Amino acid sequence: MKLVYRCNSQNEFHKKGFKVKNFIKLITITTYLSTHNVMGSSFDSCGDTVSQKIINAETVAIEKIDEMVSILDDKYNPNIDGIQNSIEILMCAQNKIRNSFHFVCKNEPEKNYFMRTLPLIGKEILVNLNFKKLFNPLNLSSAIIHEATHKCGTNDAAYFRTSSPKSTRLFHWSSIADTYEYWAKNGVCIPDVDC
Ligand SMILES: [Zn+2]
Repeated sequence: MKLVYRCNSQNEFHKKGFKVKNFIKLITITTYLSTHNVMGSSFDSCGDTVSQKIINAETVAIEKIDEMVSILDDKYNPNIDGIQNSIEILMCAQNKIRNSFHFVCKNEPEKNYFMRTLPLIGKEILVNLNFKKLFNPLNLSSAIIHEATHKCGTNDAAYFRTSSPKSTRLFHWSSIADTYEYWAKNGVCIPDVDC
């Protein structure tokens, strides 16, 4: 009887030890994932459909930035004022997208923003669900690029919805967020060179 008992308890000990080891491994993996954000962006009140559309648009945005940077690199004289700055802003914005955002969806018909974010600080991007017809891959990916460049120091000195990018009295075209949204929608062009 005694021998059987000892044998059982030893088995239980080994089983328990195995489980604890797996549990520690699981905790380590979970902690790694939550601190490194490899699971992607997070969402608040966006719903499954909109969240999935945003996730897809982030992938498109990352690819679009690759394309824009290689055009800037290959097609233009690197000494043109703003080229190097715009490459740096795009690389920075791509990094911000890769490191994931926290999208907070709201339905605010009285407000006219589609997406907005604080300059430089934090990971939060507000999304206005009221603009239902803007939730397509082109508009979403372009807007995400616009917002991501805000985290890299761009401003809203001008919008280029009806005209092509240009500098304002105070700000160079390469430091205006809508330059990059325009490029994402219409292709890269450089003010006073080819747009
Ligand atoms: Zn903006």
